[in-house]
Amino acid sequence: RFVVTGVPTVLPSYVSGGWRRPSDDGTPVRDAVTGHDVARISASGLDLGAALEHGRRTGGPALRELTFHQRGALLKALASHLREHRDELYSLSAHTGATRGDAKFDVDGGIGTLFAYSSLARRELPDDTVCADGPVLPLGKGGTFLGRHLLTPLHGVAVQINAFNFPVWGPLEKFAPAFVAGVPTLVKPASQTAYLTHRLVELIVESGLLPEGALQLVCGGAGDLLDHLTPQDLVSFTGSADTARRLRAHPTVVRHSVRFNAEADSLNLSALGPDATPGTVEFDLYVDSLVTEMTVKAGQKCTAIRRAFVPAELIDDVEQAVAERLAAVPVGNPAHPDVRMGALASLEQREEVRRSLKALRDAGRVVFGDPDHVDVVDADPERGAFCSPVLLRADDPDRAEPHEVEAFGPVSTLMPYRSVEQLVDLAARGQGSLAGSVVTADADFARAVVLGAAPWHGRLLVLDADDAGESTGHGSPLPHLVHGGPGRAGGGQELAGLHGVAHHMQRTSVQASPAVLSAVTGEWVAGAPRREGEHPFRKPLSRLRVGDAVVAGPRTVTSEDIAHFAEFTGDTFYAHTDEQAAAENPLFGGIVAHGYLVVSLAAGLFVSPEPGPVLANYGLENLRFLTPVKPGDSLTVTLTAKRITPRTGADYGEVRWDADVTNAEGESVAKYDVLTLVAKEG
Ligand code: NDP
Repeated sequence: RFVVTGVPTVLPSYVSGGWRRPSDDGTPVRDAVTGHDVARISASGLDLGAALEHGRRTGGPALRELTFHQRGALLKALASHLREHRDELYSLSAHTGATRGDAKFDVDGGIGTLFAYSSLARRELPDDTVCADGPVLPLGKGGTFLGRHLLTPLHGVAVQINAFNFPVWGPLEKFAPAFVAGVPTLVKPASQTAYLTHRLVELIVESGLLPEGALQLVCGGAGDLLDHLTPQDLVSFTGSADTARRLRAHPTVVRHSVRFNAEADSLNLSALGPDATPGTVEFDLYVDSLVTEMTVKAGQKCTAIRRAFVPAELIDDVEQAVAERLAAVPVGNPAHPDVRMGALASLEQREEVRRSLKALRDAGRVVFGDPDHVDVVDADPERGAFCSPVLLRADDPDRAEPHEVEAFGPVSTLMPYRSVEQLVDLAARGQGSLAGSVVTADADFARAVVLGAAPWHGRLLVLDADDAGESTGHGSPLPHLVHGGPGRAGGGQELAGLHGVAHHMQRTSVQASPAVLSAVTGEWVAGAPRREGEHPFRKPLSRLRVGDAVVAGPRTVTSEDIAHFAEFTGDTFYAHTDEQAAAENPLFGGIVAHGYLVVSLAAGLFVSPEPGPVLANYGLENLRFLTPVKPGDSLTVTLTAKRITPRTGADYGEVRWDADVTNAEGESVAKYDVLTLVAKEG
């Protein structure tokens, strides 16, 4: 038997607090390149109901005790740990048919997603276990009845059912937002490449970083897993549209309204603009991008370009340029340094691709490649799941097949279009896609395509000479942006920064008085009690509390103040300097103080000037000037600690203050948030 270093003969699962072997020998998983056995796989004998319960009873409570910042810090440590072991993951990836470049896409992409979510958790979320979402909404005129949305973690398990093509990125991109939300995960990888996900989870378990129950792994079939779901669990599926349809309709999923997110195959498009003729940067970018998307991971990417639309008059040029580039892509053993495209994941996948190609050939002819044969470097072309890149050309874009049949391999169909309207219609024929791209230097054309195609897409890239240098390319989902598309693409959404976190939480609208709403959310809201006494700028974070306040003033604003400010800053706008012109201003009816003068005077009122725990003022947010300030008006400012966020790993944190500047009549003349950095001690 061929032995792959580091992979046990039978893959154990990590469930209910330990590694468990199946009760039978399972079925073989084969090396995509050599056809030898890599491992055997089975989930027989595993108690999947108990595994889910372990996640709910052990993982969930442990995670919910951590604040968002603590979860973010753990993710960062985990990402660093995995980064140290990535060479091992790259090496194992070769058995899945992946080149080194493909492996980096998968492994580094996954680790990068952990880093991105770690940073989001620590920068965008409070150092708390709940998170208020959106603004405070006044629900009555008197300000005693308010509403706000609150996000709390679901008390279930985020179940992942994953595809074979991203055995590292797939589990990590789903795990990161669930973990930040405080929800434990159970991963069921696709059997074909489960040995790589197994090693990933082994590395995570070995790190000892995560609370027990936060991550479990089931190698083998899903068995009765879904039967044990409860209303607090979630399912996140990636794979074929057929399986998605079946699982979505599972009686337990339906009965409990289980949140079900699907990311399925889609007929992604890329369109070349009519301006991008041969010789332009955009023409070359289009050809590059199409060849990359066809050959990276041997085209086994859910976002790869399947439909390549080009202006009818450019189709011969594009065909020729793409064919020339594809001819220079050596296919073969991904471990060989010359090889640019490896194998498909399995011989079964190759059969599937060949079957799909048969259907596609009813609509188009092959203009590059041979679906049944390929010359390979350093490998046996029959034992390994090798497949030639195949470019088809369908001169009639109205034929159904290219819009319906996905060959999940290095296959794309070139099609002509004659107008932007036709292009937008053709885009919609895919019935919903994950990703699309437009390559053009014509911003009006780009706008027409983006607006026309957006309802059918989760993500759209417009590529031109300006952004090409920094562009992450057509096929790369990004942690901060939506991944997932409507209709055929599964109808789901993953990632998208904090949206992906919120997906694992319940949004509850809480209606209450200001005092109660402050207590519930941990954030001071207008109308809640304040505490005056020692100046809050004298208090380090260890003593500062939400609601601590200072009321300072009054300070009378004189004509001299306004004239001085105008002269000193150079802001001599007529409303501050020209009595007659200002009198005719319909809003002011006379000289008014500069808004920035009001803000500056307020700072002069609330400051506590001696050295102390306040280290810096790093900005203002939500500044509004609400009532004009005239010479003779006197100003009072109330500054209240609104949100306190200690920064993990630093000896200071952020304090957001509510600032309300009022006039002698008690009217607010300016409202804003002051952002400061304050020492934890001292
Ligand atoms: P599948 O939909 O068959 O499998 C995807 C995942 O679902 C695997 O983990 C699989 O497990 C699991 N699964 C299958 N049946 C069930 C079930 N009844 N209950 C619970 N889990 C189940 O897709 P494949 O991986 O076989 O790929 C087939 C096609 O899907 C490809 O040719 C391609 O067209 C598309 N695809 C799309 C991807 C995308 O990212 N959108 C990615 C990969 C494939 P197991 O492996 O153990 O059977």
